[in-house]
Amino acid sequence: MSELRQNPMTKEWVIMAADRAKRPNEFGHVHKKHERKVHDELCPFCPGNEHMTPPEVVRIPATEGEGWKLRIVPNKFPALFPECFPAWTIQRTLRSVKGSGAHEVIIESPDHSLCGALLPFENLITVLRTYRERFKQLSENPHIAHVTIFKNHGAGAGTSLEHPHSQVIASPVVSSPLRARFYEAMRHWDEFGECVFCQTLRDELDEDKRIVFNGHEFVAFEPFAARSPFLTHIFPRRHMASFGDVRDSELEELAGVLHNTLWKMHSGLNDPDFNYTIMTAPHHESGTRHYHWYLEIVPRLSEVAGFELGSGTFINTVLPEDAAEFLRKVKIAQTHFANEFAGVV
Ligand SMILES: [Zn+2]
Ligand SMILES: [Zn+2]
Repeated sequence: MSELRQNPMTKEWVIMAADRAKRPNEFGHVHKKHERKVHDELCPFCPGNEHMTPPEVVRIPATEGEGWKLRIVPNKFPALFPECFPAWTIQRTLRSVKGSGAHEVIIESPDHSLCGALLPFENLITVLRTYRERFKQLSENPHIAHVTIFKNHGAGAGTSLEHPHSQVIASPVVSSPLRARFYEAMRHWDEFGECVFCQTLRDELDEDKRIVFNGHEFVAFEPFAARSPFLTHIFPRRHMASFGDVRDSELEELAGVLHNTLWKMHSGLNDPDFNYTIMTAPHHESGTRHYHWYLEIVPRLSEVAGFELGSGTFINTVLPEDAAEFLRKVKIAQTHFANEFAGVV
């Protein structure tokens, strides 16, 4: 028997139809990835090929030697352009704005092979710190309404470049789904006098059926009304609307929880393609009491089809309770990862 579940933060309905599906442990056979090279001479993000990207806007030098640890470069084929003024046009119902903003690539490591879950913990801390700083810098531009930080891993998640990288898009408008989440969060505050995200986290911890990691500062869990198999949320325990307000000490634990979760997906689900996104309020809304930032990881294990596109209702074929139990049981490899993860398991 299926069940319809409502997401408390968006009011979206999801059909849980676990009977239609494979069991969680069968997802591991979907993809079979090849070994990745440490350096690819044709890759524009590999060291020695810096001339193949537009001039960098940020470089973090390597701890030793003359190389770099991380670079940020403008996207070679940007969706939005920093030099463009956001002139608006409104004609009857038709509204448009020039493509002003920024579209940048964060090259996370000089090592081509360290994609997805394989990026060392120390690199991931540097990457998260860079996310926060770039988010705040781009948010200072008065023409920017919202900054989105995201990662596409694998062709099924929208990238053809293997080299570890993520992207930042600074947009002159607030998207309709973000606006809807804001309205729902505000409505919840008006009704209950509490942040819906704080309340959701408390409920998840009380129920304790969908938790993957329970850390001091962050909790990873499979949301009650997850839209797709193994969709995972990482929530900060401290109420913060903007990702720009996360503290250094919190970033270290976030790196551990994210690393751990990606590793379990990599190992248990055989390196699936995935996207993750930082779902934050715009930084100028950082004091907002009703919104709460979080990180959403979406492994690409199922296809979006006509019903989802037409109705906006998703069908999830793996119960979040089963996905959480499966991920909890995936052992962290006894490699150099083990000690780094010890503090957050
Ligand atoms: Zn490369
Ligand atoms: Zn909150």
